[in-house]
Amino acid sequence: MTIRERLNLDYARPTKKLIILGSSGFIGNFALEYLRRYPKIQLEGISIHRSIEKLQSIIDEFQPKFVCITDENAFERFQKDFYNPKIKVFKGKEGLIELIEASDSDTVLNALVGSIGIEATFKAIEAQKKICIANKESLITSGPILIDLLKKYKAPLIPVDSEHNAIFQLLLLQNSENIKKILLTASGGPFRDYTLEQIAVVTKEQVLQHPTWNMGPKITVDSAGLINKGLEVIEAHYLFGFSYDMIDVKIHKKSYVHGLVQTMDGAYQCFVSPPSMIFPIAYSLHFPNPVPFVLQEAQDPENWPILEFENVDHRKYPGFSLCIEAGKTGNSAPVILNSANEIAVEMFLQDKIHFTDIPKIIQDALKQIPVVKLEKLHILLEEDKKVRNYVNSKWNEKE
Ligand code: MG
Repeated sequence: MTIRERLNLDYARPTKKLIILGSSGFIGNFALEYLRRYPKIQLEGISIHRSIEKLQSIIDEFQPKFVCITDENAFERFQKDFYNPKIKVFKGKEGLIELIEASDSDTVLNALVGSIGIEATFKAIEAQKKICIANKESLITSGPILIDLLKKYKAPLIPVDSEHNAIFQLLLLQNSENIKKILLTASGGPFRDYTLEQIAVVTKEQVLQHPTWNMGPKITVDSAGLINKGLEVIEAHYLFGFSYDMIDVKIHKKSYVHGLVQTMDGAYQCFVSPPSMIFPIAYSLHFPNPVPFVLQEAQDPENWPILEFENVDHRKYPGFSLCIEAGKTGNSAPVILNSANEIAVEMFLQDKIHFTDIPKIIQDALKQIPVVKLEKLHILLEEDKKVRNYVNSKWNEKE
């Protein structure tokens, strides 16, 4: 099956009316910035977690018709302080689904961070919207179910994660028989030049200093241990349908090359752009049309840094290896990995554990929780809950 068929690309149309889920985060901010530059795309709906002052400024600027506030306290506060009869406001995780149902938007940009985004992706597929997917958990935890659902509803899915977007663009230029390998690049995070001894004593402040991307805390922590890249390998596997031995990762410190494709003759094609999410976001919104102007972030080759690549040192990044193992195991193993990681990262951000405990907690969950077959969304959600309960009761309540 070609990527065109797998991701229903013949059904894709350029975005006119957009919903952004996760509008105050890293990707959401870039998307709003792009709408400022290209105001022909109408912002129809947004979701936000709890930053209601930010929400109010987005409403003033873009006047969406529908809003979802996923944090219940923030919802109550917003209704009290900012009541606006012109806007329909939904509440909580269910509100994300109601927002998609209520709006006649043609596109959903799912920029939610974490497994909260999964059901919204499913809803958007059922509603046959174009889905610009930046919520990697939708693919990592429910890849096989999601791909089946895509087949059924013919909703086009465009990857927004920078590496996957790059590989997507490269794959569209090739016959699938001519692909030998796909490669994702990784900046290597802030500890790429550290020794194992140095990594063992890093502080939270050091973990939160990403060398090339300025992202939210969850993804920054994931990136420091290369768990983000491991999750992206699983994401690539489900998105593009390649086996794990056809997917590789190279450390590339400058984050200028986002993805490479090796063809059968051994040659490589690579995708180069400065590290800004504006490129994949603009591309996915306009798809299948091209972005109609040069983005101001673009850089001509004489301004590029020297492009160097290295292999991943697995000893430095035990979490990365766990991701690949869980991906290969398949079924619910990626759910166990992902949910355990989400809890572990939260605990790390609350200063309850050390950075190097994160892979230990994931490894323990993968060892102790049996892998089950995932056929339906509800099984996945039950497994997710089971993992969270296990990890929380074993690690989180111990003070
Ligand atoms: Mg990425």
